[in-house]
Amino acid sequence: MRPSRTAQLLQSSLRLTPRAFRPTRATFHHEYCSSCEVRESQKDTKIKAKAVVDPLIPPADHRQLGIQQGLFTTSIYSPGSPLFLPNGARIFNKLVEFLRAQYTYFGFDEVITPTIYRKLLWEKSGHWDNYAEDMFSVTGHGTSEAKDRQKIEDDEEFGLKPMNCPGHCLLYASRPRSFRELPIRYADFSPLHRNEISGALSGLTRVRRFHQDDGHIFCLPSQVGKEISRTLDFVRLTYETFKLGPYRLVLSTRPREHYIGTEEEWTNAEAALQQALDASGQTWTLNEGDGAFYGPKIDIILKDSDGKEHQTATIQLDFQLPKRFELEYQGQESEQEQNGAKITVPSLLANDGPLRPVMIHRAVLGSVERFMALLIEHYNGHWPFWLNPRQIIILTVNQDKAVVDYAVKAMNEIQGGGINVWLRRSPDQLDGGIKETDTAAQARELHRSTFSVDLDDSPRSLGKKLLDAKTKRYSVIIVVGKQDVDRGQSVTVDFTGITDPEDHIRRLVQQEDKPLQKVNVELKRLRETLLALERAYL
Ligand SMILES: [Zn+2]
Repeated sequence: MRPSRTAQLLQSSLRLTPRAFRPTRATFHHEYCSSCEVRESQKDTKIKAKAVVDPLIPPADHRQLGIQQGLFTTSIYSPGSPLFLPNGARIFNKLVEFLRAQYTYFGFDEVITPTIYRKLLWEKSGHWDNYAEDMFSVTGHGTSEAKDRQKIEDDEEFGLKPMNCPGHCLLYASRPRSFRELPIRYADFSPLHRNEISGALSGLTRVRRFHQDDGHIFCLPSQVGKEISRTLDFVRLTYETFKLGPYRLVLSTRPREHYIGTEEEWTNAEAALQQALDASGQTWTLNEGDGAFYGPKIDIILKDSDGKEHQTATIQLDFQLPKRFELEYQGQESEQEQNGAKITVPSLLANDGPLRPVMIHRAVLGSVERFMALLIEHYNGHWPFWLNPRQIIILTVNQDKAVVDYAVKAMNEIQGGGINVWLRRSPDQLDGGIKETDTAAQARELHRSTFSVDLDDSPRSLGKKLLDAKTKRYSVIIVVGKQDVDRGQSVTVDFTGITDPEDHIRRLVQQEDKPLQKVNVELKRLRETLLALERAYL
């Protein structure tokens, strides 16, 4: 006789090891969901294998560069929570947009989840017992019916989330699931808060408020290998795009003593991770016994141009949270049985349900703030065009009205595809109000534009304006003079601020032999050229 569904569920749920183990505060604090853990990795941010570097050139410091480039600031009014200035917000948003575009291919669905949850949730996830000191708790001031503080019950205490995993478990559990739906992949860019001690706070790397490119995959045990392979592909694609690396992969396996789940489950999970690592074709090393108590993991350790190593991406299997949140799915056999079919094939019987899904935590960038710090130091001011907060600047040769008007026309053409973005930005220069055009067409055109275009029509000499633009490292410098006004359709563009080893620009502007310092490009064509350069992640 086959065991009842409940018995099977209990069986399939994770068992404690013979030496019954409850995570201690220390193990929980150290390990729990370290895919979302900044604290531990922060220790590694600026340490380890130091390569031979020129002692006369100090290594780039993202905090100094952040001030120089107007990227972010901090305030005593919110210690550890960086405030992004427009230039920093542009980079942040470009990173998020890049990932969103990849999510379509890698099958992630973005979700939006709360910042605060009732204490009840953190008790269920285990955070309240083991992680509370690292969390911020908040309480309301009572509803109109319960102004009396005595009436406010324990349940009215909330915790600011330090990680997204419990919220994603709630989404998974929001309705019954079938094996057919798996894998389910959620992505989330929510802000997270962790109560770092104030003395340790610094720049973008030691913070209290940050964002992750967080993702959780709920899948069948048989899907683990494929999911890990896909995640490793995602990591490779991302780091190649940013021209970061090399990086190394480290597999951490079952701790000798304190762990949950059966040895068989660990062996299977570790085998799936090893297969995925082998299939990746990349070299990897084993860190035996260093897995989290709730599952094995793969860490990606990135080496920067100074030889410093940074732990960035992680992929972690979790046997713990699906159990705590009683996550399940209907297996293949039970579904068919419900439809009247009689199942006798043993392999299908083994897939009877309800069953426990496997949960995979994964982050490709890790903390977006910390990744930004890494990029700021990596590029050291030489941002690629697509990420550069100072992408394009138009300089006027003089202040003649015809020249300035033509520069504004160029700006409107590049940034807005002909929409008058300049007048909307400077309404004080209007005489007669903004003429409403086809607003739907305007919305569509502006939707395509992600450029930041600046205009320098100051009375300074062209030489000074050029020097200023180069010092600020604009990728594209456009100079507008009387000649351009006379021609009426084009501008003179300096593309030399873009690193382009594959000659994309020459092909786009169809000028094979001329120097890229003074390319004459039609205005209409210029916008399309710049959009193509952005899409090429140049
Ligand atoms: Zn997680």
